This record gives sequence, structure tokens and C-alpha cells, in this order.
Amino acid sequence: MAEKRKFQAIKGTRDLLPPETELWSRVEQTAREVFGTFGFGEIRPPIFESTELFARAVGGETDIVSKEMYSFEDRDESSVSLRPEATASVCRAFIEHNMQALTQPVKLYYTGPMFRRERPQKGRYRQFYQIGAEVLEALQQGQGGAKDIPKDAAVDAEVIEMVMTFFVRLELQGVKVEINSIGCRECRPKYVKLLREELQKVKERLGADSQRRIDTNPLRVLDSKLESEQGIIAGLPRIDEHLCADCAKQYAEVKRQLGLRGVAYKENWRLVRGLDYYMRTTFEITAQGLGSQNAVCGGGRYDGLVELLGGPPTKGIGFAIGEDRLILSLQEARGGSAAQGRDVYVAWMGEKAQAIAIAAAQRLRSEGFRVELPPMEQKFGKALGQADKLGSRYALILGDDEMASGQWTLKTLADGTQAKYTEAGLLEFLKSRKGNSARV
Ligand code: AMP
Repeated sequence: MAEKRKFQAIKGTRDLLPPETELWSRVEQTAREVFGTFGFGEIRPPIFESTELFARAVGGETDIVSKEMYSFEDRDESSVSLRPEATASVCRAFIEHNMQALTQPVKLYYTGPMFRRERPQKGRYRQFYQIGAEVLEALQQGQGGAKDIPKDAAVDAEVIEMVMTFFVRLELQGVKVEINSIGCRECRPKYVKLLREELQKVKERLGADSQRRIDTNPLRVLDSKLESEQGIIAGLPRIDEHLCADCAKQYAEVKRQLGLRGVAYKENWRLVRGLDYYMRTTFEITAQGLGSQNAVCGGGRYDGLVELLGGPPTKGIGFAIGEDRLILSLQEARGGSAAQGRDVYVAWMGEKAQAIAIAAAQRLRSEGFRVELPPMEQKFGKALGQADKLGSRYALILGDDEMASGQWTLKTLADGTQAKYTEAGLLEFLKSRKGNSARV
């Protein structure tokens, strides 16, 4: 006999189940609505791509590419990887579908799973979900340079405004926006050189990760959370004091534009992004109830990434929201997940009543009510108990009396009151009570 094996979801992955999945759907639906009002369209890129795409776009030195990707050799011996993020795919698609020929900028959003082999903990998974958006603008003849600064800054600010509009719509609590500028190809290398020199001087006092990053990615030392390093980092040179004139101008303009849009923010010179391709504007948004993994959104500008992937000179700005964390924070604020509930539990008894119950359920469902129709007849006492357990708002009682009189009984479970309705009257009553029914 085959050995009995108990299968479990792989470490860092999990099943999302009702009623929680209802909240996931609502969050995604809200994203679609809000992003749609800002003129964004949906893109659904594949979940795996050539490993080289991520190595090139995200950067071979990053933790994501060097340690965390799920890569495998396909049967034709090419190396493919589960996507650790989607910006690389969106840029690849922009090039592949010649989107520079469309009206610029091209505004796209996506939702879906990403994969990184991180150490799992609350709010950090190996399969997690992101909701993100990108604004891509291929440069036309004579475009680019300093004269584009006000335009770019307005685009940056509008993208942040869009995320905040989404979060406000969801009533996400304790939301804080932090912004920074990490310079450009002109000024950042000079700052990184200076930073590296200063870090060398304090190397002995840093932890192993930061010591390693002095060579590989010194900017990342700045977002170290290690308690013992905080005092040292506070004394390091700040990037905002080393921005070139254009970057400084752009940063000031982003702040002005955020002000115009009523977006409150805090500046944080230590905010750098883990991915190589960012430049100038970077931002991060945190929310309450998430402990150490409190970043729900990260984003920034990445002019030049499309070109790096073989496309035309193109500007880009985007963000990714961690949907798992967004959901955790929403649940935390409302104290656990809401019961899914039913609007109407149809309690029926008798063959004649079953036909009427089926027709009533069909009618109510077509009107959008959540209806539970038990497959077998039940004594009314048991049926009402069941209705209660399912979090039903009403029980529709269809028995011999109701069949004889044509008057149906509707019981409100919260207070036990009952009233009689004709079929038409019942529908009218339930419709008048919609809106405050059991919804997530
Ligand atoms: P990133 O793509 O690294 O800029 O991350 C953007 C957002 O995705 C973060 O702010 C998190 O909210 C979320 N995120 C990143 N990695 C994970 C993970 N392993 N598990 C859950 N959420 C994540």
C-alpha cells in the first residue's frame, strides 16, 4: 500500500481562504477603480521570464537576484525565473509591443504574485502579492534634460497622490509617506564614492552585512535597521547635500507638487531602494499594525531602465504595493477578519416548498443577494441555527403555512422579529435594506 503522505503548502507560501479572500477581492477592485480614474490600464505579464531580464533590470548584485530568485533550467536549457517583481516585465513588454509608438506617457498597472526566497515571517512571504503601476514615457526628439524637470516632478507627485487616494478609499490607518531623492547618473556616483570612503573609516564598527555592502552597494547601508549602527549612520554624509543642481531642482519641485495635491509627507535622506535602477525620486509608504515589516508601498523613478533593456530612451516612475501587508493592516485595524455572512438563508420544508425555495433563491441571487439554500429540508429550529452560524441576516421561512397562504415569513436574526410578505413585497423590502447588508 502506498505510504500516506501529508502534504503542506511550501514554506513561505500560504492558502488565502474565505472570508479573507473577499477582502483581497475588494482591495483589488478598489485598485482597479482608483487607477482607472487616473487613466491607467491593466497589464498582465507572465509569471516567469528569462533570468537574464531580471539580472539586467534589477541588478546582479542585489539580494533579490543573487540570493532570492526561484530560477530553473527549462527543457531547452535556457534559464528562467519566477518573477521577483514586475517592473522588469512591464519594461520588456513596453519594448516588445513597441509602446513608444502610442500616445505618451503609457500608464499601466498590474496585480499578482511575486516570488522571492526570503526568510518568512509575519508580512514577509516567499510568494507574496503586489499591486503596482508604472508610467513610461519614450523621449521624443528634442525632449529630455533640465526643461523636463517640472513635468517629471508633476508625474512623480501624481503617482504618489494616486497611491494615497487608493489607501484613503480603503480607509487604511496610520499611513505615512516618506520621500527622498537619490540623485542621478551625474551626482550619485560621486556621492557613493564619498559614502564608501566614509564607511571604510568606520568599517570595524559595522555589522557583517553592512561591511559587505561597502563594496557591493553602499547606499543599502543607509537603510540598515541594526540598532548598533544607527549612531554611525547618523554621522554619514547625506545625499541631499550632494545632489547636482538638476536633481535638487527636481526634488524641490516634487515637494511643491505634493503640497499642491494635499499629500502630507516626511523627508528621509536614508530612504534608498533595494533595486539598482532607481534614480531621483524614491518613496516609501508605511501603515500601522505591521511591526517591523511596515512598508506597504515602495516606488521611485527609473529613467533609463527601458534603454538598459534594449529599448528607446524612456523615462519611468512606478511603485509596488505589498498586498499581503495592506490586507494585514486593514484586518488589524478592524480587529480580525469579518465573517463572510449571507443575506438570506432559505429555510424550507416539504416538496412543494422546495420548488418555491429554489425559485426564490434564483430570484434573490439574480438581484445580487447572498443566498444559502440548504440542499435537504431541515426542521426549522435546526435551519435557524444553521442560518445563525453562517452569519445570515435574514431567514426566509417556507413551510406548509406559507405555501397555503402565499405569504412568506422573513425572520430578522439579530432581533428575532418576523414579518410576512408576498414574493414581490419581500423583494422590495430586501432591496430597500441592501447597502447595509453583511458585506466585507
Ligand atoms: P519592492 O518590490 O522590494 O520595492 O517591494 C515593494 C513592496 O512589496 C514592499 O513595500 C512590501 O510591502 C512588499 N514586499 C516585498 N517583499 C515582500 C515579501 N517577501 N513578502 C511580502 N511583501 C513583500
